Amino acid sequence: MSNDTKSVIIIGGGLVGSLCACFLAKRGYQIQVYEAREDLRKAKHQRGKSINLALSHRGRFALRSVGLEEKVLENAVPMEGRLLHSISNATKSIAYDKHTNQCIYSVSRNILNEILLTAAEKYPNVKLFFQCKLKDVFLKEGKCVIYDSKTKEILNIEADLIIGADGAFSRVRRCLQQTPLFHLNQSYIEHGYLELSVPSERGHLLVPNLLHIWPRGEFMMIALPNSDGSWTVTLFMSLEKFKEIDSKKKLKIFFEQHFPDAIDIIGKEALEREFLSSSPNYFISLKCNPYHFQDRALIIGDAAHAMVPFYGQGMNCGFEDCTVLDQLLEVHGKCSFDIVLEKFTQRRREDVHAICDLAMYNYIEMRDLVTRPTFHARKIIDDF
Ligand code: FAD
Repeated sequence: MSNDTKSVIIIGGGLVGSLCACFLAKRGYQIQVYEAREDLRKAKHQRGKSINLALSHRGRFALRSVGLEEKVLENAVPMEGRLLHSISNATKSIAYDKHTNQCIYSVSRNILNEILLTAAEKYPNVKLFFQCKLKDVFLKEGKCVIYDSKTKEILNIEADLIIGADGAFSRVRRCLQQTPLFHLNQSYIEHGYLELSVPSERGHLLVPNLLHIWPRGEFMMIALPNSDGSWTVTLFMSLEKFKEIDSKKKLKIFFEQHFPDAIDIIGKEALEREFLSSSPNYFISLKCNPYHFQDRALIIGDAAHAMVPFYGQGMNCGFEDCTVLDQLLEVHGKCSFDIVLEKFTQRRREDVHAICDLAMYNYIEMRDLVTRPTFHARKIIDDF
């Protein structure tokens, strides 16, 4: 069977699903992408999962492979290093790469997703369906049951391959879980996050082109730049601590004690409004094995390896899944999908598990070790 007669259903038109559609479309497969939410290019902006993300080498490489790196970087802000803010309002910058000036990029999740969806849609062999939620999968038969909330219809569709790019709470993964020898290790951490913002009028109060960090041992705050001059600030802290701060007075005391310079940067009223009107989001970390079922189904992105965000690699790693899948299709794709999927699991398992562990470790690094002299840091790393 040639590629143009093989069909692939991708569940999830988020970052990884839409990029995967571009990769597979280039290879000639017939692609259908089903996304539960409405088309974000038409929807109003939604708050929730982080507004901007750090894009690094793995992600850029994947974007370059489908001709989108330049377009994404045009809309991104380079971050050349970290700027640490101390309690006494002193700052210290640490370049990411003094020698070759490499940097990471802050990119808006929505802009990136829009670019990817628009690029996918340009391929004649890609069809995108929004407000279409996967309800069930019959793995052996390659069948999906989808609820279309626009027409209120149930769709029964089938394809040669089903790819679950449906995020941390993946339904495709849930179906894989029912197959023998599927391992899943899932944990929540006791810390959560809440997003605050610095509007563009106040953006100049932060030094540009740096990732700002307020490391405070038990918790930390970071700020990433947006291309319109505004900043997205994320406070990471224990869920218990978030619960304790339930009034303007407690919030003022907390910020004066731990993040004094941030009060002016964010603005007192905006801080109160944003902090007290939102609830913290949780973090899930999961590792599984394998990522595939026979020649029928594969999970990629957060569906396969949701991780805590402290290493800035969740999306990058999901993009790398697409690169690896593409490389395997290049070598083995002429045969059936079973070799490709089997090799995908073999190639990804160790790397992905290692990145999940590094992400967990980097929470301690970012909130604590970056402030310590090297020998102390070494000791903590050894003890960790
Ligand atoms: P998602 O982005 O979750 O997309 C899944 C899509 O599937 C969604 O659009 C959803 O609507 C859809 N879907 C779900 N269920 C169904 C269904 N049943 N039927 C149809 N569609 C469905 N990563 C980085 O690389 N760098 C960073 O700096 C970074 N920072 C982060 C900061 C925070 C606070 C958080 C929470 C995460 C961060 N990440 C970062 C991780 C990154 O957000 C994820 O790894 C990335 O979004 C994964 O993309 P995905 O497409 O696999 O999943």
